[in-house]
Amino acid sequence: MALGLAGLAAWLMAYVWINQMARLPLQNEAQLVAHAIVQGGELQIEAYYWDEPHHRLLERHIDPFFLQVFDAKGRLLRQSDNIALLGAPYPQTLLHPPVAQEPFWQPLRTFRIGSHTLYYVVYPLYDAQQRYLGALQLARLEPGFLALYRQTALGIGLIWAVLSGLTLLLLALSSQRVLGPLHQLTQATAALSADRLHEPIRIQGPLDRETALLLSALNDLLRRLHEAFDELRRFTANASHELKTPLTILRGQAELALRRPRSAEHYRETLHNILRQTEHLTTLVEHLLLLSRLDQPETPFSFTPVDLSALVAQELEPFRARAAARGIALTAALDPKAQTMGVATLLKEVVRNVLDNALKYTPKGAIEVTVMRSGTQVVLEVRDTGVGIPPEALPHITERFYRVPSTAAGVEGHGLGLALVARIVTLHNGVLGFASQVGQGTTVRVTLPALAIAIPDPQPIDT
Ligand code: ADP
Repeated sequence: MALGLAGLAAWLMAYVWINQMARLPLQNEAQLVAHAIVQGGELQIEAYYWDEPHHRLLERHIDPFFLQVFDAKGRLLRQSDNIALLGAPYPQTLLHPPVAQEPFWQPLRTFRIGSHTLYYVVYPLYDAQQRYLGALQLARLEPGFLALYRQTALGIGLIWAVLSGLTLLLLALSSQRVLGPLHQLTQATAALSADRLHEPIRIQGPLDRETALLLSALNDLLRRLHEAFDELRRFTANASHELKTPLTILRGQAELALRRPRSAEHYRETLHNILRQTEHLTTLVEHLLLLSRLDQPETPFSFTPVDLSALVAQELEPFRARAAARGIALTAALDPKAQTMGVATLLKEVVRNVLDNALKYTPKGAIEVTVMRSGTQVVLEVRDTGVGIPPEALPHITERFYRVPSTAAGVEGHGLGLALVARIVTLHNGVLGFASQVGQGTTVRVTLPALAIAIPDPQPIDT
C-alpha cells in the first residue's frame, strides 16, 4: 500500500515535471514575441521577425512553432505562414482565456489538426500601465508526451511490482523466522504439566534476540515455580509427618492405658504424657498457622512502638525457672532506650524461640541476653555456651523443618522455630545473624531498626 502510494506520487511528480518542461519553450517564446510587438502602448505586429531564416515559424524548421496574434477583442491580427502549410483548418479564435503563467498542475492544453496533435499556450499582452492589448496563441507539435506518460507509469509500475514482491518475500521470511519459534513455544507451554516444570523448554532452530530473551525468562519462571512447588511438597510431607508422630504416640498411650485396669498413679502418668504430647502438637499447629499467616502478603499486621527491653524482660521470666532447674546461669543486660516499631506478639515469638533454643541446646554453662541500642538500630543478642552449630548446617537452620542431625536428636522440637524467627525479622526489616562454634556455643543476633525518638526543643524556664 505504502509502496503503491509512493509509486503514484512518483508518477504524478514525473507527469507535472514533463508538462512544465514542455510548456517552458512556448512560454519563453511567447515572452520574447510579446516584448517585440508591444511598443508604445500599441501592438506593432510588424515589429516581430516573422520571416527570419533561423526562425521556428518557418516552414522547414524541424520543430516549428505556430504563432497567432489577437487584439483585445479576440480578433486575429496576424498568424505565422507555416500555419497555412499544415493543410488543415486551424482554429482562428483564442482557444482559452490568456494566462501569463500556467499553474504547475495544469495538464498540457492540446488540439488536433488533421493527423497532428498540437499543444499550445495563450499569453496575454499588456502595455506598461497593465492595459490589456491582446493575446498570443503559440502552438507546437506534440512530440509524444502521452506515450512518455504511459512509459513512465509502466516503469514506475514495474519498479513497484518488483519492490512489493521483494518486500512481501522478506516479510514472509522474517515472520516465519519469528513466528516459527513462537509457535513452538506456545505448543511447549500448552503441553507443560506440574510434574515436568523442571524440564526447560527447548526450541529448534535459530532464535531472534527477543524470542531468546522471552524463552530464557519463561524457563527462569518455570525453574522458580518448580522450586516453589517442590518446597510446598516437602513442607506438606514434613508437616504431615510431624503431626502424625505425636498423634500416634497419643493413641498408643491411650490404648496401652485402657488395655487392662491400672493404678491411679499409672493413669495420672499417662494423662501427664498425653498432656505433654498435646502441648507439643499445639505448638506445632500454632507455628504452622503463624507461618501461613506470615506467608500471605495481604495479612494485615499493625505496627506500634515496642520497648524491646521490657518485652524481653517479660519473656525471660518463665525461662529463669527452667534455667535454674538445669543449673544454667541466665543473665540479662537490657538497655531501656531500645525502642523499635513492630508487632509485639510476633517479636515475643522471636524472643521465645531464640531463648528456647539456647536452653534446649545448652547442656551446661551460661546464657547471656543483651538488648542494646546501636546508632539507628536496636540489637537483641542471645549468647549460649551450648553444643554449637556445625558450619555446614548454618545456611540451613532457618529452613522449615530443618534440624541439625548431630545435635537435635533427642531434643524436643520440630524445626520450625528459626524459620518463624527469620520470617518475622524480615517482616520488621531486620537482620538475623548467627555466630557459632561446635562445642563452644552459639550467638544469635537480631538487629531491628530503632524507633526514631523525637527530642523536644529546649523550652525557656520561667524565673
Ligand atoms: P527446633 O525446634 O529443632 O529447635 P529451630 O528451627 O528452632 O528448630 O532450630 C533449627 C535447628 O537449629 C535446631 O534443630 C538445632 O539443631 C539448631 N539450633 C538452633 N538454635 C541453636 C542453638 N542455640 N545451639 C545449637 N543449635 C541450635
